[in-house]
Amino acid sequence: MTAENYLIQSLMWRQCLTEDKFKQMVGKCQRDLPEGSEVSAEMMGQMVAKVNRQLRPYNIEISRGPNESDGTIHYALINTADNDITRMASIWTQKELIYYKKVLTAIVESDNTSITSTKLLNIGRNDEIKFTVSAAENLMNKWMDQKWFEELSDGNIAIGVRSLLEMNVYIRDHFDVKDCLRCKILCVRGLDCMSCSSKLHYHCSDSQYIQDNKCPNCHKQFADTEHMNSGTTADNRDEDVDSDSDDTVVEDNPSGQRGRSKRSRLS
Ligand SMILES: [Zn+2]
Ligand SMILES: [Zn+2]
Repeated sequence: MTAENYLIQSLMWRQCLTEDKFKQMVGKCQRDLPEGSEVSAEMMGQMVAKVNRQLRPYNIEISRGPNESDGTIHYALINTADNDITRMASIWTQKELIYYKKVLTAIVESDNTSITSTKLLNIGRNDEIKFTVSAAENLMNKWMDQKWFEELSDGNIAIGVRSLLEMNVYIRDHFDVKDCLRCKILCVRGLDCMSCSSKLHYHCSDSQYIQDNKCPNCHKQFADTEHMNSGTTADNRDEDVDSDSDDTVVEDNPSGQRGRSKRSRLS
């Protein structure tokens, strides 16, 4: 097997790799790399370019981008020809597809670009889907493992790096989203400039880039500085979930558990 094939297979199997893992893979592909020496960013870039040249006829490429809550770079194989979510029908059921779309929409369109686990489970109760609480929880836990979605430190659910990479064109086509002012990569969760609508990833908004709390684009003051360079979550509250919808979930919860630990994974 060639080094490039090894890398492609690793990505296909693991689906979304952290930069460290990807670096290890590239290291294994560099047969002439002296023992103990580091794989440079240049080597990684060259390997990605080489593999992408080979993959181009198949409309697949390796794409890289950050997880929006901590800025860690990930790599995934993406389909460049067809970015519609319906292509996922080969691995997801029709109901799963609808659920994914509805959850993605709720997250991207929410004020905090994240939703509570209660809201998440209520979306699963939609007439088109009708998932039980445990079915919705199991599916969401699987999707979080696969990095389609991510659980934030406050227990809310945000978009995952795999959705950002693989659904990039779909998200751009369907929602009013922008690229990060600094890194030029799609930014769903980040710092907003209320004056010029610029967007910045939280991990991109450090003091080297932002001076005197002013937007680097329009030079007006940022309203929200709380999360600058913190890499932590936005101001997520439960207030978007009304008490009726909360009851709906509890009603069908076989464990009868009322409310969830904000810090624990969906159980
Ligand atoms: Zn950025
Ligand atoms: Zn601005």
